[in-house]
Amino acid sequence: MRRLWRLLTPDLVAPSIYAIRWDALRARGVRGLILDLDNTLARRDQPLPDEALRRWLDEARQQGFAVCILSNNLEQRVQRFARACGVPAVHSATKPRRRAFLRALQTIGTEPAQAAVIGDQIFTDVLGGNRLGMVTVLVTPLPGREFIGTRLVRLVERWVLRRLVPPGGPPA
Ligand SMILES: [Mg+2]
Repeated sequence: MRRLWRLLTPDLVAPSIYAIRWDALRARGVRGLILDLDNTLARRDQPLPDEALRRWLDEARQQGFAVCILSNNLEQRVQRFARACGVPAVHSATKPRRRAFLRALQTIGTEPAQAAVIGDQIFTDVLGGNRLGMVTVLVTPLPGREFIGTRLVRLVERWVLRRLVPPGGPPA
């Protein structure tokens, strides 16, 4: 049970990708970023990246991070979005399973311990990243409509989060 709890605990939490500090990632030895798409980089109904996201991705690369999108969503949605961002992507990923994480890591030429997973879901992004020994960053999901299944998972996530994150604030 304690092991499962550890697998569900993110190393960092942030209100959005824009609040993540590059030096906090570097301090943990991170060189590559594996990015969730839906509700992390963009709302589910947003087909293309906005200006703020493009600038953030440019900055990530200027800061020396290799970047890959990793999404459970389907090819058409994921690859169109990624092409517009100018970054590689792995779609239909079946997170939290390991295989697609490994493919994304291979794409950016980074070992698991030198990569951070950034995503909005504990049971896909955080669990999958922790299983491989990656640095995991949980961001607050962007607002917008979600699948009924995702909404149910959110209830469980909130329950887990209340127990993971102490009332004084998130783990640094
Ligand atoms: Mg997501």
